Amino acid sequence: MTKNLVVIGAGMASGRMLEHLFEAAPGAFTVTLFNAEPRGNYNRLMLSPVLSGEKTYDQIVTHDEAWYEAQGITTRFGEAVTAIDREAQIVHGARGPVPYDALVIATGSAPFIIPVPGHRLPGVVAYRDLEDTNAMIDASRPGARAVVIGGGLLGLEAAAGMAARGAEVTVIHLMGHLMERQLDPAAGYLLQKDLEKRGIRIHCKGATKVILGQDRVEAVLLEDGTVYPADLVCMAVGIRPETRLANDAGLEVARGITVDDQMRTSDPAIYALGECTEHDGQLFGLVAPLYDQAKVLAATLAGDQAAFRPVQTATKLKVTGCDLFSAGDFADAPGREDIVFRDPGRGIYKRLILEGERLIGAVMYGDTADGAWFFDKIRTGADVTADRDTLIFGPAFAGGAPSDPLAAVAALPPEAEICGCNGVCKGQITRAIEGGATTLDAVRGLTKASASCGTCTGLVEQVMALTLGDGFAANANPPMCKCTDHTHEDVRRLIKSMGLKSIPAVMQELGWTTVGGCASCRPALNYYLLADWPLEYRDDRQSRFVNERNHANIQKDGTYSVVPRMWGGVTTPDELRAIADAADRYNVPMVKVTGGQRIDLLGVRKEDLPAIWSDLNDAGMVSGHAYAKGLRTVKTCVGQQFCRFGTQDSTGLGIRLEKLLWGSWTPAKVKLGVSGCPRNCAEATCKDIGIVCVDSGFQISVAGAAGMDVRETVLLLTVATEDEVCEVTAAFVQLYRENARYLHRIYKWVDKVGLDWCREQVSDPATRAALHDRFMLSQSVFQTDPWADHAARPAEWSPIADLSLRAAE
Ligand SMILES: Cc1cc2nc3c(=O)[nH]c(=O)nc-3n(C[C@H](O)[C@H](O)[C@H](O)COP(=O)(O)OP(=O)(O)OC[C@H]3O[C@@H](n4cnc5c(N)ncnc54)[C@H](O)[C@@H]3O)c2cc1C
Ligand code: SF4
Ligand code: SF4
Repeated sequence: MTKNLVVIGAGMASGRMLEHLFEAAPGAFTVTLFNAEPRGNYNRLMLSPVLSGEKTYDQIVTHDEAWYEAQGITTRFGEAVTAIDREAQIVHGARGPVPYDALVIATGSAPFIIPVPGHRLPGVVAYRDLEDTNAMIDASRPGARAVVIGGGLLGLEAAAGMAARGAEVTVIHLMGHLMERQLDPAAGYLLQKDLEKRGIRIHCKGATKVILGQDRVEAVLLEDGTVYPADLVCMAVGIRPETRLANDAGLEVARGITVDDQMRTSDPAIYALGECTEHDGQLFGLVAPLYDQAKVLAATLAGDQAAFRPVQTATKLKVTGCDLFSAGDFADAPGREDIVFRDPGRGIYKRLILEGERLIGAVMYGDTADGAWFFDKIRTGADVTADRDTLIFGPAFAGGAPSDPLAAVAALPPEAEICGCNGVCKGQITRAIEGGATTLDAVRGLTKASASCGTCTGLVEQVMALTLGDGFAANANPPMCKCTDHTHEDVRRLIKSMGLKSIPAVMQELGWTTVGGCASCRPALNYYLLADWPLEYRDDRQSRFVNERNHANIQKDGTYSVVPRMWGGVTTPDELRAIADAADRYNVPMVKVTGGQRIDLLGVRKEDLPAIWSDLNDAGMVSGHAYAKGLRTVKTCVGQQFCRFGTQDSTGLGIRLEKLLWGSWTPAKVKLGVSGCPRNCAEATCKDIGIVCVDSGFQISVAGAAGMDVRETVLLLTVATEDEVCEVTAAFVQLYRENARYLHRIYKWVDKVGLDWCREQVSDPATRAALHDRFMLSQSVFQTDPWADHAARPAEWSPIADLSLRAAE
């Protein structure tokens, strides 16, 4: 006898399940198919090509009227089921009840809408069905402005589709890079670059605050104050299993409707299928595992044995021209290793993640042809040890011998291009070497090879090694770290000349050999980027040493030291009282005067840091940056005001300089001293920058040190006024910020570039003014108090990057 089967939801999963069922048990069921949407089954994945205009709706329909009729299915489309009466075994639809012997709930997911003010305004849509797609098509007139909230798979497909129709599209994404669940930062960067090439604006680290508008949406306001005008807002921030019917019916529901291996719910007559389900604690958002569920449920209904086992899924983005592939697990974890391949010229990035002898994840951008081959290795858990050396090159090289880079270069004919930017071929380089150019700089000077983007430097060196044999002294300036062949100087130069504005951009375009850099290059890159692009680059806290991340120096017993700024070494009774109170309140075991004329609270427990900062902040004090590669202290003597030898107001000048320079990030720490006369009580002549006041004005000297190396400063310039001291000092610090290698103190840098060069730069009025202006621009962004910032936005305390201890002051 045929049984009544009622199916709620004509989505991708139920369509596939019905096909299997009619094949496995023809005539066994009389089927009624409800769908809230006013249509039957279609390929929801293909809504994106419909949006972009590459397909029409008719082309994506999977089951048409004729098919339903042929299978004898009663269709109730455009009719949502409102209730399930489990006792009577009846479902209630708007147009009347239907009894069932077996019931399948396949209601899919509901888009998640962020409940910000304005989210109900007309013009705010989700991206789930044909209605949403049509709303976006209607709004995507050329010149119309659309904002997509969410830079995941759906959001980006929506953005690309609307952009293809001529709309001006902005994507706002909360995280640091696009599609962070499927892609690592390197692939996210390449994706962003490709989307930006299509005119799509991407705003990462952007949190939506309000959707603005009177009668309909007009703009989106972000937490950081940015406003994007919008005629349409598409929210694509995630989905939730559609479980309302199941909940109301009293079925067991966790995040999704709980099902067993046979897709049975807690009621044996009711099954669930698709994105609305939760199996073994897992939810689903891609179609591949749902098709497996469909097969299992059809078998179960037909009385056959089958069990659902979730399989690995791979992701692809359906935006023409953006080739990405992601599968498996790519999170960093102990015991995992990466194999990375980058081809900056062609915008290719490939990364394989290995655990022991198995491949467990793959992320690729630009060339995804081998995706399926890698995916198969992930799924089967095959031992890849034997192929490891050539694995990243895919099946074409499988089992081949590891490539010898020198042999490959030797095999190149003379006309083979080595430097793509400047069109220099191997023969030109060989001739230059044979003509006497034996260093990289000389070859660069003669041929321009590796003088632009520099990514071919390694190749040029290989040609040199081949031509010169033992006479080739490899680059005397060592690479920045094991992640790259570039020196610090190269990297600084290329960041500027190529306009690289993020860490993933540097790593991709300069061909980093590791995924995310190391504890040595990341802090350096973070510094170079924020020094060169103060307005565009956003500081990456993950790339900072622990002391800078925690705004305090960690001590050897794991406690921290807290040092408030004391401008020019001057304090007040009120400040001293606040410090004393804080010391009492937080049981600070030692209060010590530092060599830089301030007070150090030592032995503060980590959990007390935010509170002690807040108390000191309330008393008007800011962080002394005693942990920072930035301005530390300006030590002063009492000067003219109290000392009979004083020639100028050294204390006042010191305070002025400290107020000018504090908060600036520099390659290494910077300390200043200002003495009121050559007796030099402030020990200014062993500081990074020392000012000695004399009757006729001020001697500005630089490049002193009093640490492991002890150095006396050398005279940079003598100037007549305090204003000039401030301008020259700011210009000199900026020169240092823009040119020095990370972690090089001023004296080391001056040794390298020469004092004369520094003097020339800050003596020339136009260069000095330009340096000064760039310094002030940077200060307009970075001169903030981390204690106050922390109060507004608590820092994350998770352990990250490498922990290195630094001396206090
Ligand atoms: C634009 C877009 C692009 C996508 N791209 C991809 C991709 O590239 N790769 C991939 O693997 N996945 C992709 N997905 C996800 C994929 O479409 C889903 O995983 C799949 O459609 C889920 O199938 P389902 O049958 O569970 O739910 P659905 O296909 O959503 O079907 C559920 C149906 O149930 C109906 N319904 C809900 N409640 C009721 C009720 N009370 N009464 C009657 N009917 C009801 C709904 O109207 C809906 O038609 C994409 C999704 C979208 C929206
Ligand atoms: S440096 Fe000169 S002015 Fe300053 S305290 Fe010493 S003696 Fe006085
Ligand atoms: S680093 Fe050396 S000099 Fe500096 S505080 Fe520690 S022990 Fe003293």
